[in-house]
Amino acid sequence: MQEFWQFARRMLRQRARVALALSCAAISAAGLGVSLLGILQIVRIILEQNQNLRDIARRFNDKLPAWLDFASLPENIILALPEGQHTAVIWLVAALAVLTVFGEAVGFTHQFLSIRVVHSTIRDIRAEAFSRVVRLPLSELVARGVADAISRMVNDTTVLAVGLTALLSKAIAQIGKGIAGLVAAFFFDWRMAGIAILTAPALYLVIRVISRKIRRASRKALESQADLYEASTEALQALRVVKVHTTEAHESARFDRINAESIRQMVKAKTYRALSSPLNEALALLALGAIVILASGFILDGKLDTPDFIMTLGSLGIAAASLKPLTGMIHQINEAGAAATRISEITRAQPEAGHDARLPALDRHTRSITMDNITFTYPGADEPALREVSLTIEHGETVAIVGPNGSGKTTLLSMVPRLFDVDEGAVLIDDRDIREVSVESLRAQIGVVTQETVIFRSSIRDNIAYGTARATLEQIKDAARKARASDFIEQRPGGYDAIVGERGATLSGGQCQRIAIARAVLRDPAILILDEATSMIDADSEAKIAQAIQEFTRGRTCLIVAHRLSTVLGADRIVVMDSGRIVDQGSHDELLERSDTYRMIAQHQLVPTQAET
Ligand code: ADP
Ligand code: MG
Repeated sequence: MQEFWQFARRMLRQRARVALALSCAAISAAGLGVSLLGILQIVRIILEQNQNLRDIARRFNDKLPAWLDFASLPENIILALPEGQHTAVIWLVAALAVLTVFGEAVGFTHQFLSIRVVHSTIRDIRAEAFSRVVRLPLSELVARGVADAISRMVNDTTVLAVGLTALLSKAIAQIGKGIAGLVAAFFFDWRMAGIAILTAPALYLVIRVISRKIRRASRKALESQADLYEASTEALQALRVVKVHTTEAHESARFDRINAESIRQMVKAKTYRALSSPLNEALALLALGAIVILASGFILDGKLDTPDFIMTLGSLGIAAASLKPLTGMIHQINEAGAAATRISEITRAQPEAGHDARLPALDRHTRSITMDNITFTYPGADEPALREVSLTIEHGETVAIVGPNGSGKTTLLSMVPRLFDVDEGAVLIDDRDIREVSVESLRAQIGVVTQETVIFRSSIRDNIAYGTARATLEQIKDAARKARASDFIEQRPGGYDAIVGERGATLSGGQCQRIAIARAVLRDPAILILDEATSMIDADSEAKIAQAIQEFTRGRTCLIVAHRLSTVLGADRIVVMDSGRIVDQGSHDELLERSDTYRMIAQHQLVPTQAET
């Protein structure tokens, strides 16, 4: 709940608006109190039939406490008031009408300002959550799951908004009106009002117990909503696979299981909420019974007059009616409390290391990359993905890494741009531990192309220039030429300005990869990392790209995971990995001679290009 109040406190940043909103709430509540007094006068005129505005004004002066004497009406004003009884009713009704219109206008202003304050606060919280999420360490996001993060950013902030609105706009207005009703009741008859107040502790207990239950159920409901996001995004993103495997029914069943759980928790939370209402009403009825018994005694003994009795009861009724929705709001605030806890788990998470502005920049790499005895285990995995790997690569060298699936090739390459931090050992570039330099300066000199290329929904030009904002169109075209992408780009209607779909939906796999290669080329990296970067490109174009890559790698250090023999043969050195270890390294011929693993890989994995067949 603490987190909810922390987020609620952020609304105070808009001090002027909040202050104005609260003043409006107070004014509108005071208006209600005054209206009740006005109605009492009408009731009195009708029931007692001997009152006019002058009597009312005199009684007002009598009832004023001593310290408010300055507000008493002077006699000449009182004498100016009309005398008739019916006229008095007309005047009072007219005054009430004006007061009501004014009160409603002020009440609306309160609501309007509150809505603005709440939603601009939510906008900030959401923006902060997103900017935190993109700065999380990759390992953290992998462990949490993307859908979970999305659900917290989108869904939980919406639930929080409901809670904040309940707090600032509705709860405060209702409390104000409730208090106005109670104050008026005390004014009419303090004994009856006192009994009503006695029920407060019991109400408090009921609300407290139920609140705790609601918070727990809400937390579970929000968690299963995150699972719902996960199940649906997973299935929809892989819709091609789902369709060709005709697993629609399977996916629907999976979705339905999670959906059922999510609904079950939600029903639980709402049931507790619903339960609180009859409990509170039963309490209120008990209090009413006690009040009526007491009041009838007073009336029969002549200690209480009928107009006061009616008005006390009426005021208490208004107080109860105003406070009743409050329990619902308290429960909404509790649901928001569960959401606030989940949101703050993101906003409080430690960002990725290495972004400290005090860290020195890494100079452009000119000497070597060294993996010094590194060991790494993915979060949540049982087995290390890399075990005591040591490897030194000289500047300008091209190293091909081969190994069976899951042997740790991709993981090893991820260590260079520090996508993950090693558990033991160190990665050194030009003899500097990469943890001691700023990540920006490290990543700025690395170009990465992986098997799963990422294309954003934007123009081809922007996609190539992604991360190199100041690139000119000439440089972009040049990079595209080097990646052998210019032909197909120029043939498309729109050329470089053609918009490509989300995840590259309007491009073939090979075209996506060529754009990704152009993107890496444009960065002019000192270190080039290619992880099966050409796996989707047909053999004929690949031969051309291989040649282009070879030109491009000159003067750069290059780590390549490849599945084509030609690429491997073009490397200066071949490193063989198996089960997270480097098992051998050397030239193609040496390795064929002495490494069983390499021989197997060369036979079964490395695809010969046309040149070799
Ligand atoms: P390769 O690229 O050689 O096929 P990877 O480096 O991708 O292999 O994977 C090495 C090992 O690490 C595999 O056993 C794989 O299951 C595991 N692994 C890869 N990514 C993750 C991850 N995000 N979480 C847990 N384990 C992972
Ligand atoms: Mg891989």
